[in-house]
Amino acid sequence: MAATDLINLPGLIDDVKCFALVRQHRWPEGAVCPMCGNGAVIRDGHDDTQPCRQRYRCKACSGRFDDLTGTVLAGHHQPLRVWVLCLYFMGLNLSNRQIALELGLDGSDTQAMTEQLRRGLAAKTPAVELTGEVEIDEVYVVAGHKGQPAAVAKRAGSGAGAGWQARRAAARWRRTSRPSSG
Ligand SMILES: [Zn+2]
Repeated sequence: MAATDLINLPGLIDDVKCFALVRQHRWPEGAVCPMCGNGAVIRDGHDDTQPCRQRYRCKACSGRFDDLTGTVLAGHHQPLRVWVLCLYFMGLNLSNRQIALELGLDGSDTQAMTEQLRRGLAAKTPAVELTGEVEIDEVYVVAGHKGQPAAVAKRAGSGAGAGWQARRAAARWRRTSRPSSG
């Protein structure tokens, strides 16, 4: 019998901690109004169906929002803990298929979730986070090529040009292959 038959993982995950995780990730300095960007917000009860989902009111623009407003996690039928587990499995490099099996989800649902999560936990683009070994692109400007695009184009198929393109492609891969998980 597979472990997944015995353990309902989402059922073991604490909603309180999941929402705390989103708040910490989204607003490390405290809640900020997604409408006007003001930090003068007050707590305003909780969601009617999700008691851990904190609601807020902005003192500046009187806007109302909650922990998930404006994020990819808002307005989806999956509970937050399923999203959090999905994110965790992505960090373990599990395939969409494996994630779908673990969470008991439809394959296309899982695909949609992982695509959205890759764009970031919050809908806004998070600031680029550099961790571990950081590699800076080298810039190759051959003096003779400056201001002579025709000459460069003519050389594009040559060894030098191909080498430069390969280096650039490798550098781009290094940047994009380490999506920020946090
Ligand atoms: Zn506001």
